[in-house]
Amino acid sequence: MSVATLDRHDSMSPRLSVVAPCYNEEEGLPEFVRRVTETCVANVGASYEIVLVNDGSRDKTWSIMQNLSANDPHIVAINLSRNYGHQIALTSGLQNARGERILIIDADLQDPPELLAPMMEKMDEGADVVYGQRRKREGETLFKSLTAAIFYRVLRRLVDIEIPLDTGDFRLMTRRALDVLNSMPEQTRFIRGMVSWMGLKQVPLMYDRSARFAGETAYPLSKMVRLAFDAITGFSITPLRIASYLGVAMGGLSLVMVGYTLLSWMFGSAVAGWTSLTSIVLLIGSTQLMVLGMFGEYLGRMYIETKRRPLYVVDSVIGRAHIATEAALTQRAAS
Ligand code: UDP
Ligand code: MG
Repeated sequence: MSVATLDRHDSMSPRLSVVAPCYNEEEGLPEFVRRVTETCVANVGASYEIVLVNDGSRDKTWSIMQNLSANDPHIVAINLSRNYGHQIALTSGLQNARGERILIIDADLQDPPELLAPMMEKMDEGADVVYGQRRKREGETLFKSLTAAIFYRVLRRLVDIEIPLDTGDFRLMTRRALDVLNSMPEQTRFIRGMVSWMGLKQVPLMYDRSARFAGETAYPLSKMVRLAFDAITGFSITPLRIASYLGVAMGGLSLVMVGYTLLSWMFGSAVAGWTSLTSIVLLIGSTQLMVLGMFGEYLGRMYIETKRRPLYVVDSVIGRAHIATEAALTQRAAS
């Protein structure tokens, strides 16, 4: 992957990395860092880092980050060259995180940092991913809650893998889970879907999402629609199959219709030329749809191939430890 990453080996890995993408968060950032620091210290002592990514903010976010980082060696600040959007900003933070466990959190304090403690507990019990699942959304409009609810349910119907309902990116991951995520090279990134895709042991932690501490949401309807499209097209080729389904349905229907026009012709109730014309239109129309469907099938497969995701993720191997390396080698040879 040709993504610039900071040197991972300059010091020992901290026990925890907190990664937060920030876009125009000048008002809330110091309070965010204060609360995150508090909860980190309570959970892992001094062995933590806070990776803040400035995603091309138009306000003073970057200069605040620089100050915070200058005064606290735990804070790593990354400045992206422009606004890339939440998912890419988060990706850059994740690729630069060095911790043994990684907490993904929004910088607007909608996800309470204090939930780190119960998340760490669940991870101690063996989970690879502990994701926050929202019970209710405070301070969000009915419209937003409703569209979000509909979106997650549509997504679930279209996509083969199980993407948990009402879940954002707020989650704690183990290093090995993050390594898998970082090894997925796709350009369009829908991170919560990619995490679901990799399997391993993933458990929910129910929580109430609070209102924004300050500033306003950078996710207007247009961005939400784009995220929804990324999610659906990234994890499903069902839309490409619509032509096939329509083609088959129309084909059946046109056979009935052709039968009807033939009968009309035989009983002499049809205008001259109507029978042949109608049959031709019906048959050509449904044939075209079916052929488009075939194109869709191949296109869908090519699309899946171009993602170059790992073929599989191994959870554990018992008995022959070297199989894991063999599997990794096969994996590389295949790609
Ligand atoms: N964010 C970002 N780049 C963007 C938009 C948002 O890095 O282009 C960050 C933002 O600072 C916040 C997180 O992503 O930490 C979630 O954004 P927001 O709160 O606006 O989304 P919402 O919670 O309303 O879904
Ligand atoms: Mg928010």
